[in-house]
Amino acid sequence: AAKDAGRNRFSYFTPALQVAAINRMRMTNDLRSALKGGQFRVYFQPIVHLRTGKIHKAEALIRWEHPQRGLVSPLEFIPLAESSGLIIDIGEWVFKESARWASRWRRAHHPEFQVSVNQSPLEFQREGKGYEGWLAHLRELGLSGQAVVVEITEGLLLDASSGVTDKLLQLRDAGIQVALDDFGTGYSSLSYLKKFDIDYLKIDRSFTRNLAPESSDMALSEAIIVMAHKLGLRVIAEGVETHEQRDLLLAAGCDYGQGFLFARPLPAEEFDALLIAQSRAPAAAQPT
Ligand code: C2E
Ligand code: MG
Ligand code: MG
Ligand code: MG
Repeated sequence: AAKDAGRNRFSYFTPALQVAAINRMRMTNDLRSALKGGQFRVYFQPIVHLRTGKIHKAEALIRWEHPQRGLVSPLEFIPLAESSGLIIDIGEWVFKESARWASRWRRAHHPEFQVSVNQSPLEFQREGKGYEGWLAHLRELGLSGQAVVVEITEGLLLDASSGVTDKLLQLRDAGIQVALDDFGTGYSSLSYLKKFDIDYLKIDRSFTRNLAPESSDMALSEAIIVMAHKLGLRVIAEGVETHEQRDLLLAAGCDYGQGFLFARPLPAEEFDALLIAQSRAPAAAQPT
């Protein structure tokens, strides 16, 4: 009887709690074998200099080509990669792929081309490990630190531990620039902007989405751009989807734009082809 009760209790909880836990475990195992089995891809999305329409940079965005499920969004697996600790190895792999392509694009396209890589808070704060490995890898490739930008979120800076401060200094000493991703969505105190050496603000796409003359998101974006410039930072607007948004951002003095208007994130080979097309026919590659 006790055995039956136990079994009943188990089946009662199975649908809700245990299935979720089992799925998480399965996904974590899948993630581990994905890394070994080469199922991750790095896609690159152009970051366009608004005034000239030229691609100056790219953001590296990871994709998972799951054998059964097809392309899985990072929004789905990054949290799991974080809680399982796999994010460290995945991040190393993304960095290496990014550096490899940055090296090609600096040689073939533009000597100042930059690839930015995302670092989740857990990755950035990893215990006892700084960016020495990255720096050694860049040296092996003959790349300057300027080839890479690290994207972090403002949450990291709000009550920055000494570990965070040390890593930011280490990046700066190596010439690696830092971008604040999703800017404007956190609980900004803004005082960290003078405390830390940040190079780029990325205006979150929730602002870009509602850009219209006289709108409050327009006012906020303009204020962010003016403030950033006074502090010596460059501004990248995320999620630029329409010509109107591009024009408003340009008029507001925004430096760079990123979004579907210019291109979706692309496999490296397609990004490469886009750069080649741009250098052959600059006018054709420019948004109008
Ligand atoms: P994020 O760093 O803010 O990246 C920008 C996201 O906006 C990307 O989503 C990109 O595909 C999407 N996007 C770009 N342009 C547009 C647009 O015009 N409209 C719309 N609606 N969306 C646009 P994605 O690739 O799904 O990545 C989601 C998030 O996952 C990233 O947000 C980043 O936080 C994280 N992520 C991606 N790759 C990595 C990685 O290698 N490491 C880490 N730690 N996180 C990553
Ligand atoms: Mg980003
Ligand atoms: Mg972002
Ligand atoms: Mg964002």
